[in-house]
Amino acid sequence: MIRIMKNLTKILISVFTFFIFILPGCVNKTKSGDYPIQPVPFTSVKLTDNFWAPRIKRNADVTIPIAFGYCKSTGRIKNFEIAGGLDTGKFQTTYPFDDSDVFKIIEGASYSLQTYPDPKLESYLDTLIWKIGLAQEPDGYLYTNRTIAEKHGGAGLHEWASKKRWEMDSVLSHELYNLGHLYEAAVAHYQATGKRTLLNIALKSADLVNKDFGWDREKVYPGHQVIEMGLVKLYRATGEKKYLNLAKFFLDVRGPGGQEYNQADLKPVDQTRAVGHSVRATYMYSGMADIAAIENDKAYLNAITKIWEDIVYGKIYLTGGIGATGGNEGFADPYVLPNMSAYCETCASIGDIFMNHRLFLLHGQSKYYDVLEKTLYNSMLSGVSLTADRFFYPNPLESNGQHQRQAWFGCACCPSNIARFVPAIPGYIYAVTGKELYVNLFISNEANVLVGDKKINISQKANFPWDGKVEITVNPLNTDRFALKVRIPDWAMNEAIPGGLYKFTTLNNEPVNLSVNGKKTVINLKDGYAVLLRKWAKGDKVEIEFPIPIRTVSADERVADDIGKIAVQRGPVIYCAEWPDNNRGNVLNLIINSEAGFSSEFVPELMGGTEVIKTMGHQAQRTLNGTVEMLPDEPMTLIPYALWNNRGPGQMMVWIPTSGKNAKPSPAFTIAYRSKVSASIRSRTLSSVKDQYEPANSNDHSWPYFHWWPNKGQWEWVQYDFEKPEKISKTKVYWFDDGTDGECRIPDEWEILYKSGNGWLPVKPLASCKATKDAWNILTFDPVITSAVKIRVKLKKDFSGGIHEWIIE
Ligand SMILES: [Zn+2]
Repeated sequence: MIRIMKNLTKILISVFTFFIFILPGCVNKTKSGDYPIQPVPFTSVKLTDNFWAPRIKRNADVTIPIAFGYCKSTGRIKNFEIAGGLDTGKFQTTYPFDDSDVFKIIEGASYSLQTYPDPKLESYLDTLIWKIGLAQEPDGYLYTNRTIAEKHGGAGLHEWASKKRWEMDSVLSHELYNLGHLYEAAVAHYQATGKRTLLNIALKSADLVNKDFGWDREKVYPGHQVIEMGLVKLYRATGEKKYLNLAKFFLDVRGPGGQEYNQADLKPVDQTRAVGHSVRATYMYSGMADIAAIENDKAYLNAITKIWEDIVYGKIYLTGGIGATGGNEGFADPYVLPNMSAYCETCASIGDIFMNHRLFLLHGQSKYYDVLEKTLYNSMLSGVSLTADRFFYPNPLESNGQHQRQAWFGCACCPSNIARFVPAIPGYIYAVTGKELYVNLFISNEANVLVGDKKINISQKANFPWDGKVEITVNPLNTDRFALKVRIPDWAMNEAIPGGLYKFTTLNNEPVNLSVNGKKTVINLKDGYAVLLRKWAKGDKVEIEFPIPIRTVSADERVADDIGKIAVQRGPVIYCAEWPDNNRGNVLNLIINSEAGFSSEFVPELMGGTEVIKTMGHQAQRTLNGTVEMLPDEPMTLIPYALWNNRGPGQMMVWIPTSGKNAKPSPAFTIAYRSKVSASIRSRTLSSVKDQYEPANSNDHSWPYFHWWPNKGQWEWVQYDFEKPEKISKTKVYWFDDGTDGECRIPDEWEILYKSGNGWLPVKPLASCKATKDAWNILTFDPVITSAVKIRVKLKKDFSGGIHEWIIE
């Protein structure tokens, strides 16, 4: 069925290549009490570029069909069928929030239908929505896990939900989280098709939520925010104030005294720092921005302004990724931004874009778009493969080959978020007020917008992000006076990011050139925009030339993992060194020669066509006598960060050392390094036991380590098979132990065995084998000549364990 849909889409695209102008009343609608600046909806903007348009097309052709395919094969859709009485059985999937994936993909499909009309997809949605309607209980309650469990006398109710509806939502039941995504999908579907089918389901649900929750009723706050944004969309679609009030209730009922993890430690209006789970956080801040705009609520506005500064001044990666740590899938302290273990969940990048977009709509300042653009071209975009069928959950800035995009995840929030976000990208280019037209992103397109009540056609020709030249043509229906506000990005103005967490290492004195109808114009800069206030006539042309040299960036010295390193940026695009282009696959041991200079060239045949950067660098290599040798300079190639891992897993690095001091030399050819390593379990990080990187302590997550989790309390092993028999008499092991963060501890016992004939014998140690945390465990023993050696460990009762490094001498 997916293939039929794809082929049909292709035919329809060729038919529907005419310009789509949205229905009157849906464009630039400014309600009294809403954002002072209104986005121009993506339906009014037709992309004609080579960068985003093909990606949006692939999202329609590949991502959305496969995402629905996984929803079917994993049982997510069957959950609705069982709950609705079309089928029988138990809850089919792992998580109670699995309903939300179906809703998010319906949202994405609805957006996609507006660019690529597809009757097959539309009728597929009709059937799916019919099933969702059947799964909704008569009073409006919709949560397939509970409805299915109740058919089995309560058996199979998820452990995160309690017997009473809603009661556990502030913990983990995700009842309101599912509904938030339902409401967003319902509004998208209604706007795309004019059909009220899903909207009616959403309104019935929202009316139940409105009946059950309130200051004199259920006072549970959402454990995973998103319903706030969803309810605001229902309010905008219906004009019903009760949905807006409910959104505000769900914010005001939150905290104090709850967990930082889901931002319930304080009242939202009292929050000043970005904490906890970063997707929950950015969804909440976006909901707060909506309320701040509609209700003109200064307390909300103050809170999110401070939180934005907290993120941008100390908690964001150069790629625009947020959420540094995996344990909480969220924010760490300021400046704690490790590269290899960077979490930077794809959903958090999308949430960060939602938040920055809303703050721009409130304030009209370009700094919010500076962050948005950075995230869009880097951390968000790396979340999906070029083929549009593989996805990253975390988006690290460094890899030893342990990362690889996946086709789908048990927790599938990221692919479904990509499916719904990508089709909406054209909606981020323009925005309007009554007298102003903002140009925020530079992407070739043609758009029809309303400035006040004046119809204006505007188009851009650009080869962005590879080229800094942009040509804007303004075609008002009648000659008209208004301000065209063209964003002058931070990167064109010697600012790597607002606030200075990252800085360009040298100044670039090339100016931004701007001309109107061929006449050079002095830039009148306000809030980061070149303001062109004039009477615009048909065919007026604005030409802008942004300087787009290759820039090197350094981080605030408080970012420990970036000390002594630089990153490379061109326009908004952050570059990385990746294994296929460098040094026979070795990248992590490279040192960039910062004196060598840079050049760039467009390589049409590389990953769909991309600008690559060339410079020089050299490798650092450990030697057997313990020193580090620097090899001669050789050419070094950098590619856009977002494109990494499209040619298979391997080493990648964004922040590159400038001297040997901060380099990670490649391993020496020790006995362990030359051995074949195996273990009692399969692991993608097994070779990390012999990579010769010394951890700072047993709980160091900055570099790959090997662990036996989830195995607990039993004997496990790791084995080295030598190339040839070796005489050995000493071993050193550094245990992995994540203390209270996890379930790995140093083992109760350990021993070394060596291969003798076809069997294994214990070595004769010269002291006892006690396990010690945060240190090398050194054991010397009577020399043996052997072809293999094995370390056996007895894991602590109820705990697992692991090894950072295991050396044999
Ligand atoms: Zn996600």
